[in-house]
Amino acid sequence: MPISLTNTLTRRKEPFAPADPSRVTLYVCGPTVYNYPHIGNMRPPVVFDVLFRLLRHTYGESAVIYARNYTDIDDKIIAKAAAEGVAIEAVTEKFANVYKEDTGALGVLAPTLTPRATQNVDNMIALIQKLIDKGAAYAVPSGVYFSVAADPDYGKLSGRNQDELQAGARVEGEDDKRHPSDFALWKAAKPDEPSWEAPFGAGRPGWHIECSAMIEAELGSPIDIHGGGIDLVFPHHENEIAQSESAHDHPLARVWMHNGFLTMDATKMSKSLGNVITPRDLMEQGWQGETLRWALLSAHYKAPLDWNEDMMRQAQAALDRLYGAVLRLKDVKADDLEAPAAFVEALSDDLNTPAAMAELFALATAANVAKKPADQAKAKAELLAAGALMGVLADDPEHWFRASFGEQAAEIDALVVERVAARAAKNYAESDRIRDELATRGVEVMDGPSGSTWRRKG
Ligand SMILES: [Zn+2]
Repeated sequence: MPISLTNTLTRRKEPFAPADPSRVTLYVCGPTVYNYPHIGNMRPPVVFDVLFRLLRHTYGESAVIYARNYTDIDDKIIAKAAAEGVAIEAVTEKFANVYKEDTGALGVLAPTLTPRATQNVDNMIALIQKLIDKGAAYAVPSGVYFSVAADPDYGKLSGRNQDELQAGARVEGEDDKRHPSDFALWKAAKPDEPSWEAPFGAGRPGWHIECSAMIEAELGSPIDIHGGGIDLVFPHHENEIAQSESAHDHPLARVWMHNGFLTMDATKMSKSLGNVITPRDLMEQGWQGETLRWALLSAHYKAPLDWNEDMMRQAQAALDRLYGAVLRLKDVKADDLEAPAAFVEALSDDLNTPAAMAELFALATAANVAKKPADQAKAKAELLAAGALMGVLADDPEHWFRASFGEQAAEIDALVVERVAARAAKNYAESDRIRDELATRGVEVMDGPSGSTWRRKG
């Protein structure tokens, strides 16, 4: 099924065709590992995980190489380590693991490659030297800077023109750069900061050069798709393009994809506003990882998404509906089936997750009404295969409903067992009383050939 994607570079939705269908390359900017990610930080890894799954489905699992980096050297990391009196590696190791756990809890597959900036410094030094040799960068006492004036294409991704760039902000400690828009490729060594030896003086890399060097070292350019949040278009991705394309005279990436902002109750989520919420906080409150994932995918990836409690409730209800259908068919052995064409078509249309969700509901309805065993097996298989492509329905359905009831689940189990015993003893008054009690707790009992199960009432 042909895939189309919106390319930020051309500002159009285009048919996607990898340069080599047996080696499809995807790079997404990963986290700077110095704190707990908030729910907005989870949007890019979840969105691009759906893309990764779709590409694997389309081109074959081993044909897709997905790299997502860890930025493990940065001002914020250095400041955090100094404030806590611990080694930089202690901070980066801890928060790289936190990121891995949090994305994993939201059903995000491990990327093929997870390069770390500090393991690629040699490649960054080589790239910076190449830019100096070509006259695209210059060394001054505070570091090495990219010369924006030397790059006529600068601004092509973000659409900013050179006049707007004249007003670029001054950065403290960079007084010796030639133009306000020039950006640091290399920051000269300072006491008490980690540094690496380089032909242009000891120092450490700037953020933008990290991604350019890692892309070339890990994937080779041009890559097929480069992704990230819309906040990275300028300056980060503009600068990645400037560096790589000035060094190599070929495109860095053929398609650039950006997901929209996430707001919190209609305001931007930020530390200074104090409205930051982490996936850990939400999971401690009892929300399940898949519910958070569904909520993050409930708007089209390009659209802004407003995070609020109501959307999480809707996400949970949506997943209840799908898990309810799987639970109803728990004794049916599913066929080994592909996700149906209409579902794949929705995702292939620029990752239209809302349309794909509508297809999932249609599949759940088909599973609910299927009567013949063969129809039931097919319906269950289609629902599970489509769910897997979206990265949902990975849980056991009984566990899904138990988990969302938390500590109440054991009491509900006991009531269901008592009701089965009452029915066996033909004590229908007692059996009805228990059923009503369960109903007041929001639980519906489903009696099937292999016993009774329960779910949250829809
Ligand atoms: Zn990057």
